[in-house]
Amino acid sequence: MAIHYQCRHCQQRIGSIHGQDADTDKLGFDSLTDEEQAEMIEYDSRGDLHVTTICENCEQTLADHPDYHEYESFLH
Ligand SMILES: [Zn+2]
Repeated sequence: MAIHYQCRHCQQRIGSIHGQDADTDKLGFDSLTDEEQAEMIEYDSRGDLHVTTICENCEQTLADHPDYHEYESFLH
C-alpha cells in the first residue's frame, strides 16, 4: 500500500510514502475527525490512500496573501 499526497489548490503531487512507512497509525490520521478524514483522505481501487493537503508554495501564498482564501475556488 502507498500514500500519495497532493495539493488541494494547485494539484501538485507533493510526495508518496510506500511500504512500511505508509502506516496510517503512525501518520496520525486517527486524530482527525471523521469529517476531516472524509474530506482529506480517499482510497483508490488499488487500496492506495490519496491525501489532499496543501503544498509549501500554496501555504506560503496564503500566508502572504490571506485574501486568497476568498478566491480559493479559483485555485482549484
Ligand atoms: Zn499547491
